[in-house]
Amino acid sequence: MKAALRLRPGASGTMSLLCLACCIRDVLARVHFELANNTSFRGQFRGQLVVADDPLKAFTERPWHILDDSRVWVGIGRMPDPLQSIFGASLPMDNPTKSFWLNTEAANPLAEVGSTGELTQDADVCIIGSGITGVSAAWHLSNGSEKPSVVILEAREFCSGATGRNGGHLVRNVFNSFISRQASHNTSEAIKTYLLEKYTADSLVAFINDRNLQDEVDLVEGGHITLLRTEQEETDARNDYEAAKAAGLISDGKMGVRWLGNVELQKKYGLSPALNYTGVWYSAHNLWPSKLVTALFHNTSNVVLHTKTPVTSVLPVRGLSRDSVDQIPLSHPEKQRRWVLGTPRGDIKCSYVVHATNAYSGYLLPFMADRHRSKMCPDIPSDSKTVELLPDAELKTTTTQTGADRSPPLTLRHDILPSPKVHTIVPTRGQVGAVRALANTSALGWLNAWDGGGGGWEYWFPRYQGTNVSVNPLIILGGGREHAGGRLEAGVADDAALNPRVSASLHEFLPSVFPGQFAADEGWEMEWTGIMGFTASGEPFVGSRCFSSIS
Ligand SMILES: Cc1cc2nc3c(=O)[nH]c(=O)nc-3n(C[C@H](O)[C@H](O)[C@H](O)COP(=O)(O)OP(=O)(O)OC[C@H]3O[C@@H](n4cnc5c(N)ncnc54)[C@H](O)[C@@H]3O)c2cc1C
Repeated sequence: MKAALRLRPGASGTMSLLCLACCIRDVLARVHFELANNTSFRGQFRGQLVVADDPLKAFTERPWHILDDSRVWVGIGRMPDPLQSIFGASLPMDNPTKSFWLNTEAANPLAEVGSTGELTQDADVCIIGSGITGVSAAWHLSNGSEKPSVVILEAREFCSGATGRNGGHLVRNVFNSFISRQASHNTSEAIKTYLLEKYTADSLVAFINDRNLQDEVDLVEGGHITLLRTEQEETDARNDYEAAKAAGLISDGKMGVRWLGNVELQKKYGLSPALNYTGVWYSAHNLWPSKLVTALFHNTSNVVLHTKTPVTSVLPVRGLSRDSVDQIPLSHPEKQRRWVLGTPRGDIKCSYVVHATNAYSGYLLPFMADRHRSKMCPDIPSDSKTVELLPDAELKTTTTQTGADRSPPLTLRHDILPSPKVHTIVPTRGQVGAVRALANTSALGWLNAWDGGGGGWEYWFPRYQGTNVSVNPLIILGGGREHAGGRLEAGVADDAALNPRVSASLHEFLPSVFPGQFAADEGWEMEWTGIMGFTASGEPFVGSRCFSSIS
């Protein structure tokens, strides 16, 4: 969809928006947005509107902006709803679907902490977002040497983004796609990407085990089977495995990699005889994600949480330019702060801002919302190059694989940013459900997690925790996006609704793979959606360029 558009006052408009050249005005108007592809939207906009002749200055000054054919329209306050859905630059929805992890009784004790009363007005560090990223950042700051004062600002209830709405798998990629990663980077760089995932997974498991939190967060080491639907899928998987082994990434016996034939899958696991699948088993965990994040938060000190407090703007404090804010140290004797964050409950000043907003990053960082705006990032050079992993980083393959050394295995960096397209974060909706099996735990015959089969995008595991063998387990099943239609939910940031096509495919899935153990229309206890944040390239963003001009 092209971003170029024309703005017109709607039929009941109180003023013509087009007369606002080069000025700031308070506006209450019904607006009519007409996109270049002849799609149009109507909606009400209340706030300040700026039309600037200096696009670069304008877009860095305001939390949202729109590219007109010739100018930039910039607004303060919430972007008009019709535009949010077009540009994928929205705040989280107010009324999300209820997820098993968050809405099971007493599951989210921090849900509304700090949502009423006085808002904290000052902190060394403000973290926006209370998912695993934001709370991990708070935990690291709190357990570091400087111990700054930290405030977490969360738009909805605690942990109610992707972290509270996901599939619960704590699994790292062991060797999948190794050959293609080798081709797009090189062998040593490809290895680092797997080690980074391993480092993250190992660190989380270590955090839990070191504090005996296994029961509190429902950590289960149940293993994982990837189903391979065709001979080609099995050949590709075996080739990836052999290439990873040859490169020194995995060795026999490590990760318990085991190949499963079709007969074993049918006899031991109850796979449908109609399916000629094979599989590969490796060790993996699953857990209750929001309980892990709750435990992380309880292991912090000097961290204040304000839920139900959306951040609507991040601006330099009055009188400071964006260049001069960088000169102010973290611990200024007179508490001179760099940034002021606007919320509906008042402002809060901070020296540093951590954007841990995942799929919603584009709302406060407009250059991440769409590729047209990302082109305007002042730091993006005209030449393009793919993201590079630091070539001379020391590889600690042996020690990190035994888990003995938990230091980060690699440093990521890029000197030259990749093409502007890569700077976008695309909200993408995923769907998950909780379905009760027809068979009890001992009849079901499997404790492990799975992925693959069906359309190839499904992932599931049984929750045995708190049950006994005579109880029919609850299966957490996600996926079905391949049946969503359209752009496979890319660009959809609405987690207040389910996609009925995805629901239908998920309901059919388990009965088709394990006949007799599930029924399409029985046992569905909950279904919910959550919003993932995908980069356009699939590569991570690393480094401070461009971000430094924002916050
Ligand atoms: C359906 C689904 C299934 C998944 N399954 C798995 C899985 O099985 N295993 C796995 O490892 N990963 C899975 N993922 C991915 C994983 O959940 C995410 O990568 C991870 O949770 C991201 O954490 P985060 O803290 O970065 O983002 P989030 O958890 O999304 O947190 C961002 C937070 O920022 C808040 N926020 C946004 N904007 C503002 C603002 N302006 N002001 C204040 N607050 C704001 C949001 O409300 C949200 O709470 C899944 C994701 C989804 C959606």
